[in-house]
Amino acid sequence: MSDIVIIGAGLSGLATALLLQEAGKSVSILEARSRPGGRIHSLYDGSTGSYLADLGPTWVWPDYQPVVRQWLDKLNIVKVAQFESGNAILDYGPDTAPERRYLPGQAGIARLNGGPQALIDTIVSRLPESTIHFDHPVASLRALPGKLELKFSDASHKTVVCETVVVATPPRIALESIHFDPPLPTQLQEALSTQPTWMAPHAKAVIQYETAFWRDRGLSGRIASRHGPLVEAHDHSGPDGTPAALFGFIGWPYETRTEFGNQLQSHIFTQLKRCFGEDSSTPLSIHVEDWARDPFTATPTDLQGAVTHPEIGAEILRQPHYDGNLLFASAETARQSPGLIEGALVAAEQAADKILKQG
Ligand SMILES: Cc1cc2nc3c(=O)[nH]c(=O)nc-3n(C[C@H](O)[C@H](O)[C@H](O)COP(=O)(O)OP(=O)(O)OC[C@H]3O[C@@H](n4cnc5c(N)ncnc54)[C@H](O)[C@@H]3O)c2cc1C
Repeated sequence: MSDIVIIGAGLSGLATALLLQEAGKSVSILEARSRPGGRIHSLYDGSTGSYLADLGPTWVWPDYQPVVRQWLDKLNIVKVAQFESGNAILDYGPDTAPERRYLPGQAGIARLNGGPQALIDTIVSRLPESTIHFDHPVASLRALPGKLELKFSDASHKTVVCETVVVATPPRIALESIHFDPPLPTQLQEALSTQPTWMAPHAKAVIQYETAFWRDRGLSGRIASRHGPLVEAHDHSGPDGTPAALFGFIGWPYETRTEFGNQLQSHIFTQLKRCFGEDSSTPLSIHVEDWARDPFTATPTDLQGAVTHPEIGAEILRQPHYDGNLLFASAETARQSPGLIEGALVAAEQAADKILKQG
């Protein structure tokens, strides 16, 4: 194991590893899941294995996000337009006919060729092969004289010893799933617990079709709904309309989603039929990704209270602890664009910079 260990192979952890590795440091990543990417996760074609759709984030705003722009250049990833031509559907529920209306798109919004997954795949391809250790859920971190000791929540009883640790998990996951010994300062615990994990309580649905039939009818594929289950939906097809897909955010809260169970999908189909007519009732597939059920993203705290976007968190989140050997780096600890893809890249730069300055 390397002297520098990163907990979490999401975008923050991977980007931190790449920056340190490029500066000549040896780095290991311990990842709880059996895949990289964290909240960046994709749907793949069952027969070809090629990327189809985003189950986590979709958009970046490079016109307003200089750090995203720099990383797209660095990783040779190009942006593609979000399809927005035509009218949106305003959905008022089963008792009122939906309305077609032009809704302006968001300024600067863009998708990425290959989805945000391209960020993950490109970074992983640039790291030495043995960097990431999958299925390694860290359960405890102990500071001993001159070293840090990590233990896991699986049955392996393995111990890892290193000099520096970067915790690249969402702050609440770090606080609620890793035992820190000695305990973290109270002010840091407070800062970690009050920083919500962006999108943790949410669920996203991807619906694939043979053709993007809505485009032929002058529709953008966008839905804005007060009734749901989808509060908003968007065209999620390839740039030329294939493969054809829509995606939507499910507005029903976690408890309602749980209560409806498998019936949730039929409620989505009913809504799509109301908005787009018969054609929408014969999709090729539907996939619902419920992030609230994901123990490496959402904590019980994330499922309580109002859903809020993280503000720029307290400075203590960006300071080193345990004699300079422990750092936090996730999208939620960034001093810019917290919670977003750009935040993950900013957090990586913050952490790598601190480690490199320490020598
Ligand atoms: C549905 C959805 C839609 C989104 N839409 C957008 C969007 O359009 N644009 C945008 O900019 N952002 C969006 N986001 C946010 C974006 O996904 C995040 O900002 C970004 O992916 C965060 O990366 P991260 O590495 O900081 O954290 P994560 O991706 O959460 O990575 C943390 C990693 O730590 C691992 N881990 C957790 N606990 C442990 C442990 N104990 N031991 C070892 N490993 C552990 C996890 O498995 C994970 O791999 C969206 C998120 C979701 C879920």
